[in-house]
Amino acid sequence: MRWEYTPYIIPLLIATVISVVLALYAWRRRTTTSAATTFALLMLVIAEWSLGYALEVASPDLASKIFWGKVEYIGIVIVPLAWLAFALQFANEARWLTRRNLALLTIVPLTTLLLIWTNEAHGLMWRHTALNATGPFLALDVSYGAWFWIHSAFSYVLLLLGTVVLIRILINFPHLYQRQAGWLLAGAIAPWLGNGLYIFGLAPVPNLDLTPFAFTLSGLTFGWSLFHFRLLDIVPLARRAVVEGMSDGVIVLDTQNRIIDLNPAAQQIINHDVSKAIGKTITQELSTWSEFIWRYRQATEAQAEIVRGEGQAQRYFDMRLSPLYDRQKRLKGRLIVLRDITGRKRAEESLALARDQALKASHLKTELLAKVSHELRTPLSAILGFAEMLALDVYGPLSDNQKQALAEIIDSTCYLTSLVNGLLDQAQLDAGNFRLDLSLFAPTQLVDHTLAKMNMLARSKGLTLSTEIAADLPATLSGDPARVQQILINLVNNAIKFTQTGTVQVRLYQPDVTHWAMQVSDTGIGIPVEAQTYIFEPFWQVDGSVTREHNGAGLGLSIVKQLTTLMGGQITLESEVGRGSRFTVLLPLQLIQEKLA
Ligand code: ADP
Repeated sequence: MRWEYTPYIIPLLIATVISVVLALYAWRRRTTTSAATTFALLMLVIAEWSLGYALEVASPDLASKIFWGKVEYIGIVIVPLAWLAFALQFANEARWLTRRNLALLTIVPLTTLLLIWTNEAHGLMWRHTALNATGPFLALDVSYGAWFWIHSAFSYVLLLLGTVVLIRILINFPHLYQRQAGWLLAGAIAPWLGNGLYIFGLAPVPNLDLTPFAFTLSGLTFGWSLFHFRLLDIVPLARRAVVEGMSDGVIVLDTQNRIIDLNPAAQQIINHDVSKAIGKTITQELSTWSEFIWRYRQATEAQAEIVRGEGQAQRYFDMRLSPLYDRQKRLKGRLIVLRDITGRKRAEESLALARDQALKASHLKTELLAKVSHELRTPLSAILGFAEMLALDVYGPLSDNQKQALAEIIDSTCYLTSLVNGLLDQAQLDAGNFRLDLSLFAPTQLVDHTLAKMNMLARSKGLTLSTEIAADLPATLSGDPARVQQILINLVNNAIKFTQTGTVQVRLYQPDVTHWAMQVSDTGIGIPVEAQTYIFEPFWQVDGSVTREHNGAGLGLSIVKQLTTLMGGQITLESEVGRGSRFTVLLPLQLIQEKLA
């Protein structure tokens, strides 16, 4: 085949090379986005078109020009289709590219190809073909047949649709991507410009079709925005979709505090329409938020809780302010994210209210308990006093039956008195107004005095109650003797209560230089490990059935523990079910010296 050299093939060959390079470049990045593959196809068919055109221009005779002219059509019919597909993918609208739609869209291009290659038989594409030597190079002159116009109209519609889709991206684009948008616009318009110049005979070189150049130019700009700005890597549109759908309000400010973007949630929060707010400064737009804006006008990073409105309409927001930097780490603006935390706040408020009410109720309960217990004590001691006088025959002699009944009355009254005393103690401890009455006391005396009473009880059950006081224990100790006694009574009482056979032993000793200890051991039923912590809680008992047998309110150990703590000591328990229990109360030696000092 002979070729005729003309300098006009050079730009066409350059366009071919550029398009092929872009196609390869995009192909290598096809995994980053589906639009890259379509872009590669678009560039490949543009290359094919440009190369076909270069060869047509370089052909010396009509037959070979016609041949290459037909070869070009492979590219010419695919370009509009690839253009539209690319635009749709770029705009995240690929859902339109169904197999059915694509099949329908290929009907006209395939028919065009069929008709151009069989043109000699019908002339539906080219009616006449001739050589035109009027321009600077030998060109192919054709007059068009009927199908050509259908093909042209179809191609323009596809191109137009693609361009509209691209321009729509620009309109919807976040304002931060303006530079990329500029490139996109140039690329979308170039083919129209190139084609228009050729059609209206305004091309700088007569008879030279600028359309393939224009498409190459589009390819370059698209490639630039795709790969330089990584437009598809970031998928800004997808990101925008996320921001638009967010329930948090998002406001973007530039460095002059102008609102550049705000999502629907933000529009609702600040009660402003996007069209009114964009481009205005935040101080202008949000005068009601002025205090907040003023406080954070300089801050690039901040977090605060903002309250808006009054009464029922009051809303709380968590506001986060963060800086926006470009790739060169220059400050470009600020991002405000507003989260409505009204629900959480309301929940917190009602929780606090409930807590206050519960505290108040508990306080009232304690008060009531204290009052009632106190009021009960007086008549109880009167009952006990008169009963004891009756027993002593002060009001005349009693029959045996009457004495037995009286013994029951005294027993129950004693139990009731101790119960009421326990409740009163617990109520006072709960209310925090339990005072210690500190003094010096002789521990031996205290123990003897206390145990004398309990000995009878132990003996009546066939138990031995023994006492052991260590020789090195100081003769005088400091503390609240009444409370120490109360502790001892409780522990020994329990020991006797929960022991059927064996001994109850009370031991007083000095375990270290700063403490003395009071230990009560028994050979009773013991306390299971799982119960060993909670028996010190008020109203807790190990087992309802055992305790019912022994009566009691479950207050004793709780009071013992609180009194011990109040005196700066601690209580420990060692126990094994079936073998017995050992309670040790450790109290400071120096209590009174410290308190009296
Ligand atoms: P209560 O007035 O019911 O005796 P306490 O607080 O004194 O209340 O005791 C709580 C529970 O701990 C008792 O009901 C009993 O189950 C258990 N307990 C206390 N001391 C002993 C002990 N020495 N041996 C076995 N169980 C005991």
